[in-house]
Amino acid sequence: MSSPLPESSAADPLEPVRAALFHRIGADGVYARTGLYEDVLQRLTAFITRERDPRAEVLRFPPVMSRSQLEKSGYLKSFPNLLGCVCALHGTEAEVRAAADSHESGGDWTRSLAPSDLVLSPAACYPVYPLAAERGRLPQDGWIFDVAADCFRREPSRALDRLQSFRMREFVRIGSPEAIQAFREEWMSRAQRLAGELALPCQLDVASDPFFGRVGQIMAVSQRQQSLKFELLIPYHDGAKPTACMSFNYHRDHFGITWGIEGGDGAPAHTSCVAFGMDRLVVALFCVHGLDPTRWPASARSALGL
Ligand code: AMP
Ligand code: ZN
Repeated sequence: MSSPLPESSAADPLEPVRAALFHRIGADGVYARTGLYEDVLQRLTAFITRERDPRAEVLRFPPVMSRSQLEKSGYLKSFPNLLGCVCALHGTEAEVRAAADSHESGGDWTRSLAPSDLVLSPAACYPVYPLAAERGRLPQDGWIFDVAADCFRREPSRALDRLQSFRMREFVRIGSPEAIQAFREEWMSRAQRLAGELALPCQLDVASDPFFGRVGQIMAVSQRQQSLKFELLIPYHDGAKPTACMSFNYHRDHFGITWGIEGGDGAPAHTSCVAFGMDRLVVALFCVHGLDPTRWPASARSALGL
């Protein structure tokens, strides 16, 4: 791995990247991104699109989703601490006015907030399962989707690789257990090849989700034992603890049962998603290759059309 960042970055090797590519906008883990950063993100998006299965159906989701759909997906059992719910001022004009005006007089207007029917999407794939379920029984070859969304997770941090608001792209496969496992296996090797083209050092490892609380620890052990999650890990600089930039998830029949998605044989469908952490990948490119994309390794420039 080349390390072209200046010597002065020794305290926090990511600081030059943050200073050059992000602007603080008043909260940790929520940034304005520069044109240069967004240009690389667009190029990476196009690079991933070229890898898309031609059968994939493209869906782009907004940054919010139905609260009841996420509740039904089981999110509150696993990650209640990460969820953001959209709240708003409800009521008559006088009630809303009084709540808003209380701010001017030093009061706390947020005490009048009430939850809405929306949550901030914590991952891009959640809305796709109920949408697929509405279509009735699966076609013989199942479904494959290309989805993306701006995602939110309530994990404020100053670390550049732990954002509260970040972009996620996913390929989602719905079908028989055999088709799903083949899809995930194929993507686990393909992702390593793609990282190679981008000249990013990486390793693939079994992983678990950060399930909440003590019961969550048991869930994480079980997930690991069943190898339900793998991650593509990329060290941002020499000696750094690697960052998970992609994940390869096998949900077994969880979403098939939850949403009543049935295969041709009437059995619940199995599902898998391959997630690209777009912001983590772009930060990886700048950290590993430096701030000037014209000087990046030839294979990375070629892959990104630079
Ligand atoms: P997960 O559903 O946790 O496997 O997340 C999918 C991908 O999104 C991960 O592999 C990361 O690359 C990315 N990701 C997850 N959490 C964050 C975060 N807090 N900040 C930036 N990227 C994230
Ligand atoms: Zn997913």
